[in-house]
Parts: sequence; structure tokens; C-alpha cells
Amino acid sequence: MDTVIALNPALPAFPAMRFASGESHATCHAVTALALVRAGADRPAAIHHAESALDDPGCAAHVSCTWTSLVTLLAAAAPHALDARLHELERSSQLAARAGGETVVELLRARCDFLLGQQDRARAVLTRVVHDRATALDLRCLALAWLTHVLVAARQHTAARHLLETNDIERLLARRTTYRPLLLMARGAVHTGAGRFARGLEDFQEAGRGLTEAGVHNPALVTWRPPAVKAALRLGNRALAAELATEELAAARRWGSPHAVGTALHTRSLVTGDNAELEDSISLMELGGTHFLLPEALLELGGRLAAEGSAAARPRLERAAEVAALMGHHHQVHEAQRLLATLSRAAEVRLSDQETRVLSLAQSGCTNKQIAAKLCLTVRGVEFHLSSCYRKLGLSGRRDLAAVRIAT
Ligand SMILES: [Zn+2]
Repeated sequence: MDTVIALNPALPAFPAMRFASGESHATCHAVTALALVRAGADRPAAIHHAESALDDPGCAAHVSCTWTSLVTLLAAAAPHALDARLHELERSSQLAARAGGETVVELLRARCDFLLGQQDRARAVLTRVVHDRATALDLRCLALAWLTHVLVAARQHTAARHLLETNDIERLLARRTTYRPLLLMARGAVHTGAGRFARGLEDFQEAGRGLTEAGVHNPALVTWRPPAVKAALRLGNRALAAELATEELAAARRWGSPHAVGTALHTRSLVTGDNAELEDSISLMELGGTHFLLPEALLELGGRLAAEGSAAARPRLERAAEVAALMGHHHQVHEAQRLLATLSRAAEVRLSDQETRVLSLAQSGCTNKQIAAKLCLTVRGVEFHLSSCYRKLGLSGRRDLAAVRIAT
């Protein structure tokens, strides 16, 4: 467990960075964490080495070691461990005193906020870093890519395009900076947001090729296949979509973070139409506590169930609206509300006259026995009609009745 890989003189390799204070030192846990996170294997060991590096005074003297360790925790989707470390670093003056130290913490705080669903804070910090000319180019490229991701996730496609244009994305891509794959992902997202799926797909695949050539095999570092799968599906290329989705799931399972596996399962269910995979992806995203893709998966599942006329659509759509509202993603809140409205209408249409009568009496407070007497039914008959109503309306029982308005 404690084998520390020898220091590689070729550092920094993606996603590492050179900082003014970043000279190498012997027996560095951060270097081992970096090798493991790039390979996308043995997540528990990667987390262990990242935590060890953060506790090691030798590593603490180097911003590059701190950066690598924190990025490892980020890719491991250990949001609470990362959150705790960032709190520690925010309180300590040691890192802030080093060149780039403060920006490192701010950037990772912003990314952490975004993944946990705190969009506004993430946007404010990233915007400031992008425009801060005193910040190193690599860090500004990273902030630019992450800020584009925030805007695209909120469907602010025009603002995202404008952001990339004003920061001269073509020139930055030509300069082959450390974070070129992330800039390609950002440009690809703007292309697909504008309906240019072929150009988007090219960018995502070029990002993937660049990472593979650089020996980066972890889908959690740059999640390029899921948007490539969506673009391929829009282009009608199901074979490519299926191939990439299967590769992503294998790579995500090798790395093993709930968020990576959840994202991969969501992506594959778009190809296979498998609701069980979608259910699993939602459970893993809830478990991992990373919420930014959750409404999309819940809307997909809720939409499929609503189309089948299943009452199970309702709790999924309500949860989608709840999480999307927390993130300020109004388009997803509206979509959830639209689907919920169709669900209510469909249920109303299908209530029989007898069901409507039973439901009205239940709502007015009658017991099942009283309803049976009034409508000349058996108690079991009343129970049958009521449970049929609950199923059609997506209610869990009598206590939910107050929320229902019956069309008469
Ligand atoms: Zn170190």
C-alpha cells in the first residue's frame, strides 16, 4: 500500500502543473497519487496517497503536490473529503503565501461547488480567475474550460460561445497548453449546444485521443465519452455511440467512483433504453453526492415512465425539479413541471366514474366503510377502487389525497 513510485523527471503530466515553488522532492506521495489517478485504477490507493501527501510537511511545501493531491480527491469523487481539505487550506495561511497557492484552492473549491450543485458560487470564482491576467496561463485555461461547463449546464449557450470567443479559444488550442483536452471539451460543448453535433463529436474525440496518447485512462479526469455518445446518437451513429458507452462503463468500473459509474450507466442507458441501468445510475449519483447530472438522469427516467403511463414517474420528476431548482437550472425545473402536468392530466382522463365518486368521498373524509355504504359497494370494492386511483395518480396513500384536485 505504501509503495511510493519514484519521481518522474518528465512531470508535470496531465493533470499536474508546474508552479514557481514546484521543485521535486524525494518519496513523494503526490507523485504516486498522480500515477494512479492517470491510470484510472486502484481508487482506494490513490485516495490514500493523496491524503498522505496532504498530511506530509514535505509535500505541503510544494503547491504542485497539493494540487495533484486535491485533483486526485476530485477525480475520486470524494466530495466530502475534498471539501474538508479545502476548508483546512482556506483557513491556513501557509499555502496562500506561495505563488498560485490561493488560486489552486479557489479553483478546486469552485469545481467542488459545481459538482455538489452550488452553481452561482462556482460561476463567480471561475469568472474572476479567467479574467485575472496575473494568473498563470494553465490555470486560466482550466478556469475557462470549467466556466464554459457551468454555462453550458445552465443552457446559456450564447454566453458560453461568447466566453470562448473573447478568450481566443483557437489561439489557446494552438498553444498546446496542459489543459488542451479540457478546452476541446469546452469548444465541443458549445458546438453541440448550437446543434453542430458533428463538430462537437470531433472535438470530444480529439480530446479523448490526446488523453490516451498522454497515458490518461481515467474517465473521471476528463469525461469525454458521455458527450461524444450523445452527439453520436444525434447524428444517428448508434454503432459508435454503443462502442463508446461500453468503453466508458468498463473504464468507470475500473476506477470505481460512484459518480463515474453512475455517469457511465446513464450514458449507456441512452443507447440501450434500459430503465434498470438508469435506476442504478440515479442511485449511484445520489450516493456519491455529486448532483450536477442527477436532474438529467431523473428527467430521462421520469419521461420514459410517464410515456408508459406509470405512476412511478411522479417521484422521479419531483426529485428532478427539486435538485434542478437547488442548482438554478430553470430549464430542467420547467421540463419536470411540464411532464408532471401531463401525468396529472393523463391520470384524470383515465379515472372511471365509480373511481371518481369513491375518491371524492375519501377526500371529504369518509372512511372506507362509510363510502361502501353510500355507494352500495363492499369495503373490499372501495379499497380496490381507491388503490387503483392511487396508482393512476401516483399517490402513496390517503395522506396524499389533499394535494389532488379531481376533475368532475
Ligand atoms: Zn510531494
